[in-house]
Amino acid sequence: MSDHLGDRDLHIDSLVIHGGQHPDPITGAVMPPISLSTTYAQESPGQHAGYEYTRSHNPTRYAMERLIARLEGSTLTVDDDVSCGGFAFSSGLAATATALELLDHGQHVIAMDDLYGGTYRLLTNVRERSQGLKITYVDLTDPRRVAEAITDETRMIWVETPTNPTLKLVDLEAIVNIARDRNIVTVCDNTFATPILQRPIEAGFDIAMHSATKYLGGHSDVLGGVLVTNRADLADRLRYLQNAIGSVMGPFDAYLCLRGIKTLALRMERHSASALRIAEWLERHPKVARVVYPGLASHPQHDLARRQMQFNGQPGFGGMITIHLAGGLDESRQFLENVRVFALAESLGGVESLIEHPAIMTHASVPPETRASLGISDSLIRISVGIEAADDLLADLEAALAAVRLPASVGG
Ligand SMILES: *Cc1c(COP(=O)(O)O)cnc(C)c1O
Repeated sequence: MSDHLGDRDLHIDSLVIHGGQHPDPITGAVMPPISLSTTYAQESPGQHAGYEYTRSHNPTRYAMERLIARLEGSTLTVDDDVSCGGFAFSSGLAATATALELLDHGQHVIAMDDLYGGTYRLLTNVRERSQGLKITYVDLTDPRRVAEAITDETRMIWVETPTNPTLKLVDLEAIVNIARDRNIVTVCDNTFATPILQRPIEAGFDIAMHSATKYLGGHSDVLGGVLVTNRADLADRLRYLQNAIGSVMGPFDAYLCLRGIKTLALRMERHSASALRIAEWLERHPKVARVVYPGLASHPQHDLARRQMQFNGQPGFGGMITIHLAGGLDESRQFLENVRVFALAESLGGVESLIEHPAIMTHASVPPETRASLGISDSLIRISVGIEAADDLLADLEAALAAVRLPASVGG
């Protein structure tokens, strides 16, 4: 099987189409067939072409895994690992659950304090009990806090950047510098930025993780998760764990992800351009108390964002915006009940624009005290800017904000 090593020289907006891909060797089909067979005939017991059973080996899933491996910049070849260090799972949380199985019972994990609610729930409500993990949540916007939290038992650092929903950033290179030579596996949930805008493995991280349900799939019609590593030893262990645990991505879903990723670069360009325009507009709106977007000069880590989030050498900040409305829960409801183009829905990263209320919706599993300390208040609203005409999105937000009746005390 050819490895198309040459594809490493391609720009990322070509890699989304060609990375790790080759025409079907029998028919020349440019898209891989959806291989549904669960088992493969053998010539003689134990003699086969590398395919025995679909949980362990599936050509459509491999195609998706090699593609995401190339996009995240893994340099592993098919000789190191059959899918070049990329692994696809049935959901983002299935990917996370499998990565956590790299750890032994009782080991220590340092995690960003502002995490996707489901990741927090898996770590705290499930793995602290079933795996005895000891978890310290740290505000990693200041990397020095990692050094303070590390113990002899620390074996994993789990970061998300930008975070969900407060869009805090973590300096990936600074974390790597602290974790280096300490036998700690570093993992970055790269769901919000995607490999188009941010490359954790190139910054020295061991594993990049995704909910493929979001930007990678991109069309709100597939649930999936991904892990990519650049380390042959970790690829070996993840391959073993992926098969042993069995929460693999199905062939239909792998096909939908492959199809979605073809336009990932185009979509991220549009998401980023529209989000910047909308964030700047919202920042001037009197009924909006504060706008958080890494592309705004007012973001406390704007300089880091410019350095760490880039598309072909130009800064790009993604499609997620968080706003604090003037007022509280009533005003948030009035606003959210009056959007028409935006859908009031959980999830993010699709072609259609979505808007939601984290305290009631996506982050309800985070305890109220923790939500309060993270600033996830009743006036906080999360926006996933889609690829519709930005003018239509602005008009929709303007009309919904006009429907908000502020009490006299809030002013505005
Ligand atoms: C959605 C999401 C997850 C979980 O992925 P699922 O595909 O829903 O299991 C993890 N991290 C982030 C940042 C997410 O947005």
